[in-house]
Amino acid sequence: MVMVSFKCPTCHIDIISPIQGADEIYAFASNLPVLMRCWVCEAPALVVHRANSCGLAPEGRSRKLLDMCLRAAALCRRRAVESQNRDPQDFFLRMERDWLARARGHDLSQEAVVARSVRLGITSEPRQIA
Ligand SMILES: [Zn+2]
Repeated sequence: MVMVSFKCPTCHIDIISPIQGADEIYAFASNLPVLMRCWVCEAPALVVHRANSCGLAPEGRSRKLLDMCLRAAALCRRRAVESQNRDPQDFFLRMERDWLARARGHDLSQEAVVARSVRLGITSEPRQIA
């Protein structure tokens, strides 16, 4: 588990939340966004490890959640194509499927933003898969 902190772009409170699951932790460490929601206003945010690392949208600029999910899926597909090895390819394709599945979910007309995690409450860097 990795604890991350980010500022909710809508209500501007600091959210501290765990990232659970090996895939999500690898994704976060590999500069893919992780979808999180504010506890207070439930606004969705695509939380990233480093500033401007995922190339989805400028930090703080909002887009429809559907658009963000499709952009994240395309990013995963691109990372899979760029990977030379089978394991990261499988990982990025699995992540692509996850984002495409989210793109069939509810509330996709909600606005979502890219938010950088402002503090990492972890003792070591998460292992980067690719
Ligand atoms: Zn909020």
